[in-house]
Amino acid sequence: MDGARKPQTPPVLILLGPPGAGKGTQARMLEDQFGLVQLSTGDLLRAAVAFGSKAGKAAKTVMEAGDLVSDDIVIAILRDRLAAPDCAKGVILDGFPRTTAQAEALDQMLGETGQQINAAILLEVDDVKMVVRIAGRFTCGACGEGYHDEFKQPKTAGICDNCGAEQMTRRADDNAKTVMSRLDAYHEQTAPLITYYDDKGVLRRVDAMKDIATIQNALATLTENIMA
Ligand code: AMP
Repeated sequence: MDGARKPQTPPVLILLGPPGAGKGTQARMLEDQFGLVQLSTGDLLRAAVAFGSKAGKAAKTVMEAGDLVSDDIVIAILRDRLAAPDCAKGVILDGFPRTTAQAEALDQMLGETGQQINAAILLEVDDVKMVVRIAGRFTCGACGEGYHDEFKQPKTAGICDNCGAEQMTRRADDNAKTVMSRLDAYHEQTAPLITYYDDKGVLRRVDAMKDIATIQNALATLTENIMA
């Protein structure tokens, strides 16, 4: 078995891996290159927090502590987003599912539209190095382009290479203490999904300790094979 299914319906790819593995960066690349839609539950929750919705209010303190938001809230948010017309192009899930209950809910949602998961791609990294990786990262608040103090500075400090905006932001939960909680949550609640998807025959592994371009190439090849 090659660990992935060819899509008959709009492709569904999942990116698995601990915080800092590069899921967001790689998902944006797949979005640009293959026309898939990146669905990040972290982004959707941050938008709900900023908007001050009921779900956002419930999620705020949980996210600040580095714990997982309740399955009910996250599944409802993902279900709504997945029903939007742009998702008919195919999706790349970034940060969802994170628990077995979410994985089962996703199977059910996809089953309702005759879709299935084509691949769950595990970005394999060394945990200890993730704390350094996360603590240095920042993002353009206008276009979402990711940067890093050590690995990827913008050409001109404070100005986004991609869109020219001067709105660099750092996430409130990207500090060493919260990162440790997020890693614990990953190992306790999300890592079991590796076996879940391996048992379904859709797990693929990518060495995500390499440089960004090498990881992108590996993922692009994998995605091409899945979508061919
Ligand atoms: P992320 O942007 O994926 O690193 O997510 C940031 C935070 O949002 C996490 O630490 C969780 O508190 C929350 N979160 C994002 N996605 C999920 C999910 N699928 N289930 C539960 N909590 C989530």
